[in-house]
Amino acid sequence: AAPAPAPDAQVIAHKFGGTSVASAQRYRHVAELLLQRPEPTQVVVVSAMKGVTDALIELATLAAHGQPRWRDAWQALRQRHHEAATELLGEDSADLLQWLDGRFDKLAGLLEALAVIGGLPEEVLERVQGLGEVFSAQLLGRYFNRLGHPCAVLDARDVLVVAHGELGVSVDWERSAANLAAWRVDNPQSRVVVTGFVARDGQGRITTLGRNGSDYSGAIFAALFEAAELHIWTDVDGVLSADPRVVPEAVTLATLSYDEACELAYLGAKVVHPQTMSPAIARQMPIVIRNTFNPSHPGTRIASSSEPSGPIKGLTLSEQLAVLNLEGSGLIGVPGTAERVFAALRHAQV
Ligand code: ADP
Ligand code: ASP
Ligand code: MG
Repeated sequence: AAPAPAPDAQVIAHKFGGTSVASAQRYRHVAELLLQRPEPTQVVVVSAMKGVTDALIELATLAAHGQPRWRDAWQALRQRHHEAATELLGEDSADLLQWLDGRFDKLAGLLEALAVIGGLPEEVLERVQGLGEVFSAQLLGRYFNRLGHPCAVLDARDVLVVAHGELGVSVDWERSAANLAAWRVDNPQSRVVVTGFVARDGQGRITTLGRNGSDYSGAIFAALFEAAELHIWTDVDGVLSADPRVVPEAVTLATLSYDEACELAYLGAKVVHPQTMSPAIARQMPIVIRNTFNPSHPGTRIASSSEPSGPIKGLTLSEQLAVLNLEGSGLIGVPGTAERVFAALRHAQV
């Protein structure tokens, strides 16, 4: 279970998704929004810029298939980060550009190795796909410093230890808290920008929390920093009664219980990663889902209880699902029927 000390109202954790940090202009907006807030200590977990995780996975896949066009894709990604750095830091961007070049050169080395071996080991994919968050945290953190607001940048791979199990990714709270305490000794700033999505496993290998996992990172770091609340900033006003891309009439829900939010998330409401609620439940920390582009909207508050509503709180949709109905007296009491059916389907490549 997550540690559950008394909540400290002085600390608020925030998480910004890819759409909130899609360009230099959006990083500026995020910084303004955070600077206007009252809490003395801010923990800010960031995703990669929109589309960057997909682009990194594509790069690794192209290289592993020996497709030389990975070099153009690599160049374009490097260029996108260069442009954001130059726009944000102006004449002070030299350091960051040099730092980015170092990372991109290392990445190119890895991709060249993939092209030689002609495959994509899981460990290499994990390392590559998390780089967008590492770049993103530097962009925002250095921008705060340039504005004259001291800010530390925490690479979650230096502190967060997780394990992958059947029930998803679990956190080694004891090791992670000890690592964070040691890191804090040298980084006492009251604003910390943290990489979402990335971590290490118990053997020290770089890993990730799974696609869309920065929400979970937000909750983990909110718990580790003993924040009073976690605000998840995205591109919609909160959790809606259905996916607004499918149901434009969907309405924003003012409150949800942890149970209701878990259920919607597990059954496909993409707005929040399903594991996000568990560190919050353990310490009764409210999560507020809100809109970066409409910050005056109160959003959706997820806490232990919710306001009563009609019989249905929300709808989710599972796409690409087939229901297979098998009938016949020959199936009754036959063990392993499902396994045999799926083996036959696999064999037939259906
Ligand atoms: P972020 O980059 O901020 O993590 P995501 O794209 O992962 O954002 O999640 C936000 C998106 O989730 C929304 O733009 C919306 O299209 C989608 N979504 C799906 N179901 C819901 C829902 N029930 N309520 C709100 N948004 C939903
Ligand atoms: N950037 C990662 C992804 O696209 C994690 C996240 O944004 O939540 O899956
Ligand atoms: Mg997301």
